[in-house]
Amino acid sequence: MDLHLDHVTLVYPDGAGTLTAVDDVSRTVPAGTTTALLGPSGAGKSSLLAVAAGLTPPTSGTVRVGDAVVNAPGTRARGAARARLAHVGLVFQQPQLLGSLTALEQLELTAVLRGERASSARGRARELLAAVGLEREERRLPAQLSGGQRQRVAIARALMGAPDVLLVDEPTSALDTARGAAVVRLVTGLARERGIATLLVSHDEDTLGDVDARVHLVDGRLAGSPAAPQLVP
Ligand code: ADP
Repeated sequence: MDLHLDHVTLVYPDGAGTLTAVDDVSRTVPAGTTTALLGPSGAGKSSLLAVAAGLTPPTSGTVRVGDAVVNAPGTRARGAARARLAHVGLVFQQPQLLGSLTALEQLELTAVLRGERASSARGRARELLAAVGLEREERRLPAQLSGGQRQRVAIARALMGAPDVLLVDEPTSALDTARGAAVVRLVTGLARERGIATLLVSHDEDTLGDVDARVHLVDGRLAGSPAAPQLVP
């Protein structure tokens, strides 16, 4: 299913006035594709991701997954957002793994928190760890994994609920360019294979490789540009 941002605006109270962090952003991320969201610090990238994730209601505008409204102003869509949140996978800047759990257990825990039995989730957890190239590391604790491997665990964990939408916040900020590019390649490939609409925040264009689209946010406003610039013969 596609992710649709329709005229999304987010205004924060700011002292006596207001600050418009996201300003009338409209964009569709088609299923199976990855859109990179670029922009300087303070441009509104995290704010937009929080609205797309349903963590913050927009001041105006809507977020839809397919035909379902998953976020809208006020409480109108709260029930819908809760139902749909299960179908949105999130990857944060830091992998946020639990120190005492193995890679496999990190994934099983998310299924258990959704009410599934760990034993029934194990097969899916193994399949996802293999999909991110960590089949041999499933018994390792976070401290026994590299930074890139920890980020791969976080990506696999985000896919445990078979999400339609994946939102990724600067997954490469703690990695060098080569490792960062490998993580972006992994996310792009998984999105394509699994038909997931993926929005990926980045400040590092060098890691973006073959993402399907790049859009730039400046002062909360979107200035779109195609992923591959057209060569003029
Ligand atoms: P980015 O992720 O691109 O660095 P942010 O979304 O974090 O940008 O911030 C966009 C703007 O909104 C900035 O001016 C920031 O100071 C402001 N801002 C972010 N969060 C809040 C908040 N909770 N309350 C008030 N202003 C905020």
